Amino acid sequence: MKYISTRGGIKPIGFEEAVLMGLGSDGGLIVPSVIPKLTDDTINNLSKLKYSDLAFQIIKLYAPDYDEASLKDVIDRSYSDNFRDDKIIPIYESSTIKIAELFHGPTFAFKDMALQFLGNLFEDILIRRNRKLNIVGATSGDTGSAAIYGMMGKKNINIFILFPNGLVSPVQEMQMTSVLDQNVYNLSVNGNFDDCQNIVKAIFNDNDFKDKYNLGAINSINWARILAQVVYYFYIYFNSVKKLGDKLNVVVPTGNFGNIFALYIAKRMGLNIDKTVLATNSNNILSRAINDGDYTVSNVVPTLSPSMDIQIASNFERYLYYLYDESSAKVNDLMNELKSSNKLNLDDKMDKIRSDFASTFSTDKEILSTIDLFYNKNKYVVDPHTACGVNSAIKLGIDNSNTVVLATAHPAKFVEAIESELDIKVDIPNEIKSLYGKDRKVQVVDSNIDQIKKIISTTVDKK
Ligand SMILES: *Cc1c(COP(=O)(O)O)cnc(C)c1O
Repeated sequence: MKYISTRGGIKPIGFEEAVLMGLGSDGGLIVPSVIPKLTDDTINNLSKLKYSDLAFQIIKLYAPDYDEASLKDVIDRSYSDNFRDDKIIPIYESSTIKIAELFHGPTFAFKDMALQFLGNLFEDILIRRNRKLNIVGATSGDTGSAAIYGMMGKKNINIFILFPNGLVSPVQEMQMTSVLDQNVYNLSVNGNFDDCQNIVKAIFNDNDFKDKYNLGAINSINWARILAQVVYYFYIYFNSVKKLGDKLNVVVPTGNFGNIFALYIAKRMGLNIDKTVLATNSNNILSRAINDGDYTVSNVVPTLSPSMDIQIASNFERYLYYLYDESSAKVNDLMNELKSSNKLNLDDKMDKIRSDFASTFSTDKEILSTIDLFYNKNKYVVDPHTACGVNSAIKLGIDNSNTVVLATAHPAKFVEAIESELDIKVDIPNEIKSLYGKDRKVQVVDSNIDQIKKIISTTVDKK
């Protein structure tokens, strides 16, 4: 098992190099050289394992050179009492669909599933290689808190998170700034999310600075994040079907195409997934691509499901690579076309795309009516991201017990949106209530690239 780039510009590398590289050094995305296909016997054996043992068996397939005892230890520490539920992912059975609750990690969103693992994995690799990593990332909310909770207190790692001052939700901000660990640096930037993202891009484009300060990224392009997510599709399948081999529809609220790409991999490994549903909000570029072959980038509009407010879905390049029969030449052409014209036409592949995915999108109005409808039927509150998934299942006529919708966040994270519009009271978990009284560590900074580079360099130099 080696790793290559969708753009074909790097020599094959091992798992650890792939994890440390993040984005391919040729600008492409890292993919495994083969996707292992599991036999029915193997799948049967996997179905009997608890979460961390299942994770070990799946991840090992993609990291055959990793020392087994270390890998097992990393995984065991990633999926234990840092999750509030023994099952890690409990599955709620409504009167119609099932809901896989991916929000029982420390920050109440599904990103914990991968970032808890990534933090332990980075630390293990870095200590062994006697290397250091300084993570720099921009966030509009969920990624930042999950990344901080994954990296806090880890040896050989510092994390600098930029977020727009006053523009992330109060709960999201407190989740980030109440982490007081020595290696966590919250930078509240006087600007908007685009300013934060542009600063991070500019910092990464300065190759000398990047090398000198061992900068690393944690966004969902990292292969280890996708891999950690492949695991839970197996777990969800095993805990949702009546008997192995039965078909299951899975609906994924989608932004950057990371989570749904992990489902695509799990299906190729042999899971009997029927409909693979990509649910978006009004930022529906991916829905348009799947239904009409039209991948045209437009402006991002803010919605009630902010973690899905995305136009350019970085991980889509991974799917394009497989769609065009693993042709790097074709991916290079497509990416050049996208760069120059802001759109792609996928008409020649519509049959294949439609056999891989189904998709619909939800407006804010539909998000609210879905939350309301589901609550009235089941007395269960779904968050606005999950609501996009539930609405897609209804629209596609698959709202039955053969369908699982992924719940990507706990409703308490988006309580303002729900309670201000609907006659619903959201239960706020104690962990979130207690954030209000905690000490904070945050530095307010101007939207200035040089100033932020200076903060990073002086902090790292001092250590
Ligand atoms: C990040 C996020 C998503 C989108 O996931 P992708 O992997 O980017 O498609 C959906 N819902 C929530 C709550 C998120 O935080």
